[in-house]
Amino acid sequence: MSRKKIVAGNWKMNMTPTEAVALVNELKPLVANDEVDVVFCVPAIDIIPAMKAAEGTNINIGAENMYYEEKGAYTGEISPAMLVDAGVKYVIIGHSERREYFAETDETVNKKVLKAFEHDITPIICCGESLTQREQGITIDWIRQQIKIAFLNVTKEQAKKAVIAYEPIWAIGTGKVATTEQAQEVCAAIRVCIGEIYDEATAAEIRIQYGGSVSGASAPELFAQPDIDGGLVGGASLKPDFGKIVNYNK
Ligand code: PEP
Repeated sequence: MSRKKIVAGNWKMNMTPTEAVALVNELKPLVANDEVDVVFCVPAIDIIPAMKAAEGTNINIGAENMYYEEKGAYTGEISPAMLVDAGVKYVIIGHSERREYFAETDETVNKKVLKAFEHDITPIICCGESLTQREQGITIDWIRQQIKIAFLNVTKEQAKKAVIAYEPIWAIGTGKVATTEQAQEVCAAIRVCIGEIYDEATAAEIRIQYGGSVSGASAPELFAQPDIDGGLVGGASLKPDFGKIVNYNK
């Protein structure tokens, strides 16, 4: 089964609306590649202007977070319907920074994943181990637990459309990329886990990204691995290097 690669940028808390439009305009010509799904996940306030700036291009504008309730007294949150109305088709769920600074848990991640699917938004579901966990030798056990909880009550048909981002926490924003072997080993284990929860066909269809200091230089080797279907990119997504990552195959 050949899976289309997906490269998503995570802008984090960067770029004012004016800067967002300028960045989309700058990166537009650099990220043209029909063989890859390209997503810019941007701060909520940038979604509408970035969407306008990306009109007529291959760029999808996504969100960095979403709440799991429909509407109501949840000051400061963004609802799935708001994202859908703005034209959003992808949302990052459970990034390690949200887990660390905003108390997200595997359980809230699961609620958000279910809610995203209810609204036909593709969740980019993040998982990853800390350096301590890697040194303790519990990486695979930890990731399997994160995946099993994230996918609770998710149907097979929904799971096939999900994107999983394996992001070792020690590699995020540190310039320390996991070795190709480390990244492939965990992405393969995630696929096995999905196969156990669902079946071989679902495991073969689901897309698994690697994230953690990906650059134009490291992308070709990482994305050539059998179980790595693209990348979730932080720092480099704000620079022209993002074009090199998207065009890793050129
Ligand atoms: C991220 O935040 O998802 C990420 C992978 O960041 P960076 O590429 O900067 O390590």
